[in-house]
Amino acid sequence: MSGCLQKIQSGAEPQFGNCEGLAPIPSRGQTIATQKNLTRFRPTIDIGKICIRKPRRKRHIAIAPLHCRVTCGIKNLFLLIVGGHGVAYDVVVVGGGVVGLWVARHAIKAGMSVALVDKVTCSSGASGTVLGALLPHLPRVMSAKKIFQFEALAELPTQIDALEDDTGLDTGYARCGRIMPIRTQRYLDHAKAACIGSNVAWNTAGTNLAVEVRDTSSVEGWIDEAAAPLGIIHDNLSARIIAEKYTTALRAFVADHGTLLEGVEVMDIDTGTGRLNTTTKPLDLIAHDIVLAAGHETFPLAERILGLKLGGGVKGQAAVFEIEPQSALPPVIYDNGVYIVPHGLNRCAVGSTSEDEFDDPTTPDPAKSEAFITRAKILCPPLRNGRLIAHWAGVRPRCTAKDPIIGCLDPTRHIHIATGGYKITFGIAHRLAQRLVENISQAEDVTVIPETYSVEAHLENAAQRG
Ligand SMILES: Cc1cc2nc3c(=O)[nH]c(=O)nc-3n(C[C@H](O)[C@H](O)[C@H](O)COP(=O)(O)OP(=O)(O)OC[C@H]3O[C@@H](n4cnc5c(N)ncnc54)[C@H](O)[C@@H]3O)c2cc1C
Repeated sequence: MSGCLQKIQSGAEPQFGNCEGLAPIPSRGQTIATQKNLTRFRPTIDIGKICIRKPRRKRHIAIAPLHCRVTCGIKNLFLLIVGGHGVAYDVVVVGGGVVGLWVARHAIKAGMSVALVDKVTCSSGASGTVLGALLPHLPRVMSAKKIFQFEALAELPTQIDALEDDTGLDTGYARCGRIMPIRTQRYLDHAKAACIGSNVAWNTAGTNLAVEVRDTSSVEGWIDEAAAPLGIIHDNLSARIIAEKYTTALRAFVADHGTLLEGVEVMDIDTGTGRLNTTTKPLDLIAHDIVLAAGHETFPLAERILGLKLGGGVKGQAAVFEIEPQSALPPVIYDNGVYIVPHGLNRCAVGSTSEDEFDDPTTPDPAKSEAFITRAKILCPPLRNGRLIAHWAGVRPRCTAKDPIIGCLDPTRHIHIATGGYKITFGIAHRLAQRLVENISQAEDVTVIPETYSVEAHLENAAQRG
């Protein structure tokens, strides 16, 4: 960084947030970094010092926290550094999981200036999952939730194409389908009803998306025949994503077109001023709209605004196996809580546990994973000689009312919430985020969300629970 240092100018003063409680402003003559000399288009700066830019005409200064990592396109670096009086950003998103990243992407696409803040790094929470299954509800009896999820999954390839085009990065999306073993006559009847339902609900004639009952020969060797004595339910809407690649592409887009602040933890929102207070002082962010998308950690942040806790976290574990190479990408196998998700021809992920109580949120516990791994091996012969290559744990956000929550928490201060997707977030995050950004921009035509996802429905649920 030594090549991009210059002397601070007389009269420079903080315009990014408020001086109160901030670290001392660098004094005249102190050596600081300047934007002018940051030559790369997408600078990443580990800030251990205060960054400041010499203004062309007026006085400008940026304050960023110690050890905070800032990544942004040059336009937003300028915005970060120049700041301004009053509103610094149109939108500040708290949390860089798949939900926060999609909110940031849609807001940027809508022309808003966006900063995304993550206390660690993007996708260091549940979005770092190694599983990545994108699975619809079976279309037997349709509901608002099933319609929302179907539409989200059906449009995802278009969204993915646009993201990959924008970033030049692969997301690992593949519509590989899903199979589920049928063991009882009751479940077979259920499956047949879903086949009929899919014709209408998934518009098979127009989309080619369908549910079918098949025998196991269509996926010979991938599922044990004995595990599926009455055949399998197959659908061709289900897909898999490589979460790490997907969130890397989203992060790259946000870094290029917005401002990314990693290593900054939001502790509180001053509802009087709309300022976000962070642990890693001295960063205060001011935004016109604030979106809380911090996964399960959204709930304590929202509680400070509402005085109510609307959800919590459920720990889950998953594992990745190297297996003998398959001739083509096989479908996801799902069976009553066990997921087998192909990552490639010779690799698949297996999951998962659901642990309401846990001491250590991110350390895998092999004893707890043993049950789903054993069941997965019974279902899927290639896993039996597989080699465990990764074991992962994280905490999923789940609302007490079960459904995701999306909407405005505080209309006066423009504070919004988007979280609680639990096990289906990867398939719906783009659509939840789309709706949130439509709310922020006060769009006339909005994406329909199930009534049960609204803040009002969650508050009502909380009131009923007492
Ligand atoms: C084992 C397991 C397997 C899963 N498999 C699937 C699957 O196959 N398909 C699927 O759709 N879903 C799956 N999920 C669920 C999915 O991973 C989550 O629902 C989803 O990632 C949640 O995304 P999010 O953006 O809401 O939260 P997160 O990904 O948790 O992101 C929250 C972010 O906010 C940051 N943060 C938290 N607090 C603060 C703060 N105060 N200030 C600043 N930043 C903060 C965190 O560092 C984190 O990066 C799985 C989850 C687990 C645990």
